[in-house]
This record gives sequence, structure tokens and C-alpha cells, in this order.
Amino acid sequence: MVATKTSTGTVCKLLVGGEWIDSSASEYQSVYNPSSGEVIARTPLGGKADLDKACEAAYKAFLEWKEVPIVERARVMFRFKALMEAHYDEIAACVTREHGKTISEAKASVQRAIEVVEFACGIPSLMMGESMENIARNVDCETIRHPIGVCAGIAPFNFPAMVPLWMYPIAITCGNSFILKPSERVPLTSMIIADLLKEAGLPNGVFNIVHGGKDCVDAILDHPTIKAVSFVGSTTIAKYIYTRGTANGKRVQAAGGAKNHIIIMPDADMEQTVQALQASAFGCAGERCMAGSLAIPVGEAAEAMIPHLVQSAAKMTVGPTDGSANFDMGPLVSAEHLAKVRGLIEKGEKEGAQVALDGRTTEAAKGKGFFLGPTIFDHAKPDMTIVKEEIFGPVLSVVRVGDLDEALAVGRDCPFGNGAVIYTNSGRNAREFKRHFNAGMIGINVGVPAPMAWFPFTGWNNSFFGDLHIQGSEGIQFYTQQKMTMTRWFEPKTSKTFQDPIWKAKN
Ligand code: NAD
Repeated sequence: MVATKTSTGTVCKLLVGGEWIDSSASEYQSVYNPSSGEVIARTPLGGKADLDKACEAAYKAFLEWKEVPIVERARVMFRFKALMEAHYDEIAACVTREHGKTISEAKASVQRAIEVVEFACGIPSLMMGESMENIARNVDCETIRHPIGVCAGIAPFNFPAMVPLWMYPIAITCGNSFILKPSERVPLTSMIIADLLKEAGLPNGVFNIVHGGKDCVDAILDHPTIKAVSFVGSTTIAKYIYTRGTANGKRVQAAGGAKNHIIIMPDADMEQTVQALQASAFGCAGERCMAGSLAIPVGEAAEAMIPHLVQSAAKMTVGPTDGSANFDMGPLVSAEHLAKVRGLIEKGEKEGAQVALDGRTTEAAKGKGFFLGPTIFDHAKPDMTIVKEEIFGPVLSVVRVGDLDEALAVGRDCPFGNGAVIYTNSGRNAREFKRHFNAGMIGINVGVPAPMAWFPFTGWNNSFFGDLHIQGSEGIQFYTQQKMTMTRWFEPKTSKTFQDPIWKAKN
């Protein structure tokens, strides 16, 4: 049983050594259904005592799991993938219930999560080492990838299924054990999925869950048993995790926040651009690290695009995602986050940007859920807070510029470096942008260039702290360490030198 019903609500349990157990925490965080504002569970804010138990179980499990042949470890992933598909609707419904995404957005995010499992199924091929015979006379050399031990993952609220799955299918299949700390705001989806891993045949203790906030994270960063930490969340916390984790000798990959620029050239296909920009800015209510949050139309692209975008976004329907009605956009995750986003909108107004579409007036905001409609600021300037800071809500700011160089200059000044997109029909513009924009994930006529599982999630600057990114080949490198073996073979007493039989016959 993943939760205990108490008089004050359902409390999430920890998963330690294959058992769901109670946390020793005395404080809790409420988990909301953001569509209704109701509390649906409580997350224990555990710390070192809970983590010690998880580390002990994970370490014991690691010693046995690393000896399981890699093809057998991969077979667990094949079964896990089938179970994820069989429970697809249930997982997506849980994502919607605790996060607020529309059901189609939740399903798409679960699909992305399943793709990481598909990638992990191929790890027997991808984890192979390298070898070379006779690297010096009679000396052969090889590298073999070994797992590193107990790994931990610390997740954000915005993708309850997908982001944790960026981490643990890869870590586990490489032979590590794993401790996940889901976001305390959305812990429930990870708990459903954990039961599927068990059903897939994963031995007890290879995958564990602890719950909490800062105390729990600090315990992870300081625990000597944990060798590697994967983090996804805001930039301030990512930097903190990287600094404290590496100071304690751990490997750390820490993905941070973002401000993703979308440049629209006058030669772009305006109809398609408007649709793509709307989906990029307002999909998942803007709570995506790859959401297009800053539009930079070049020259006459502004007049050709902005009125249409405002008109089209104004028609988006906003409402509860947990019912039978199909709204285009759901709520934000919490009342606290909604207040933060509304605060930034007020700041944008005060700093002089022009509100072209005001999502605060949406009808849905009158209910108890945490709703805000699509909001567009026109005539924003590069030094405004709404242009410089991540908002992480359905707010798109528009900075009008004269040419591509000016658009690239806005990007150069941006401290983040996750994604950036250009809409153009000119190969030359696309190439200039791809070569010179200061970000790690580039889209050319693609609204949200979030890489699929086979590629790393290559954020730059303040959007990533570490060396090896999450997912893809870098994910495998992160969760393994190489051992090089050099072997000298003494000269055989009798020569066994190969002679080509045809040459031998002729001579
Ligand atoms: P967050 O940084 O508030 O929380 C992320 C995790 O850090 C949570 O598990 C939380 O418990 C923990 N945490 C929070 N405060 C802490 C503290 N003071 N000390 C130690 N740990 C702490 O992020 P969030 O609000 O859950 O998620 C949204 C953020 O995540 C956005 O900035 C978004 O851009 C970012 N994000 C980035 C990517 C990426 O790939 N770069 C992907 C998804 C989300």
C-alpha cells in the first residue's frame, strides 16, 4: 500500500527495500488537485533518518544487482515498458490529477517517459567498451563500463512521470541502484510507477523512493553511500545541488531553469508559426523548461504575426482537466505558484510592457482551482524582468527587433541556455541562428526542441551545471565508470605467426 489514510488525509509512504513504509517525518506538504484546489494527499517532509534506511537497502541491493547479467537487467526494462503501456491511461490520469496538465498533455509526457525505457532496453549494446589488440608490442588494451553504485534523483514538479524516468531506467539498467526523491508537490505518479517496476521483476531495493524537501535533499547531497546525483529543477537550486554534491565528491548532473527565445523571421510561414508559438508558450500552461517564453519577431514579422497570435490565444479554453470536458489549457500547479506568476505579470505592466492579452480575467479563475489564461506582453524590452527571468506560466513576452543580429544579441545577453527556436524559410538564416545562438537545444521550425531519449538534454549556461547531461549517450556515461585493462602477453616459445595459406602454397 503506497499511502496511509489518516484523520488528516492520505500520507504517502516511502519505498525502501521493496516495502512501502511510513516516514519518520513530523511535517507534511499538501498535494493538491490544481483543477479543484482540493488536498488529495500529504507528502511527508522526511530527512536523514528516512534516507539512511533507503541508502542501506539500495547499497545491499546494488551488490547483487550489478552481478545480474546486463541482458537480464534489460529484460526487466522490456517488461516494465509493457506494463507502462498497459497502465498508460492510469498513469496519465494521475499526472493530470496532481499536476493539472490536460489529459492529452499528460499522455504525451507518459509517452516520452516510455521512450526512455525503450532506450534503456538497448543498453546492452550501448554500454559496450572498446578494445585494441597490440597497442604496444604484445600488449592489448580494453575499457569496460562498470556501474557506480547508489545513485539518487531529485525531480521538479512539472513532469511527474517523464522527468524521473529520464533518470532511473538508465541508471538501473547500467547496474546501479536508485533512490528517487520526487517533487513533494507531485509525489503520487512516481509511486504508481514504482509498483510497476516491482511487477516487472526488479529486485527489492534496486529502486527506492524517499519524500521531502530541503532537508531530504541535503541528506542526499551529504550521504557518503550516494555516488551520483541527477537533479532537474530551478537554476538557483541546480547550482546549489551541483556545488554541495560535487564538494562531497559526488558526480552531479543538475538541469536548471530556462528562458527560451523564439525568433520569427519575416520569411516564415506565419500561419504555422502562430500555431506552433501558441502551443510552445501555452502548452502545459507554460510550465515546461522548453516552453517558448520570449518571442522575437524580426522587422515586419511582428505585424504579420502578433495580432493573429493574440486572436488565436484568446480563443483557447481554460478549465479543469480532471473532468470530462476537454479544455485547451489546465491550471497551474499550486496557489503559491499562481501568485508568483501573477506577481511577475504585474511587474511587467509596471515596467511598461503592453498587455496584449490578459489571462488574469479568465472565467476559470473564479473557481477554486489555480487558473490563469494565456497572457501576452507586446513591446517588452530586453532589460525588463519579464524578459530576463523565468516565469514558468502561460505568459509570452514579445520583444520586437530590426534584424537577425539584434535578435541574436538578445540571446547573447540571456543567462540561461536551454532551448531556442527560429521560424524561417531561409537556410542561411537558419544556419546563422544554429551556429551563433547561445543555447544548447536548437529548433528550426520546431516549437519545442526537447530531445527524445536517444539524445542528451543539452542545456547550456545557467540551464545546466555539470559535464554529462541527462539522457542519451551522456546518460550512460554519467551512470557508469570505465575500467581500462592493459594486458601483456609474453612471446610464445614457438612462433604462431599467421601465414596466409595461399601465399604459403605459392612459396
Ligand atoms: P525547484 O527547484 O523548486 O524544485 C526541484 C526540486 O528541488 C524538488 O524536488 C524540491 O524538493 C527541491 N528543492 C526545492 N527547494 C530546495 C532547496 N532550497 N534546497 C534543496 N532542494 C530544494 O523546481 P520546481 O519548481 O519543482 O520545478 C520547476 C523548475 O524546474 C523550473 O525552473 C524549470 O525550468 C525547471 N526544469 C528544468 C528542466 C530542464 O531540463 N532544464 C526540466 C524541467 C523543469
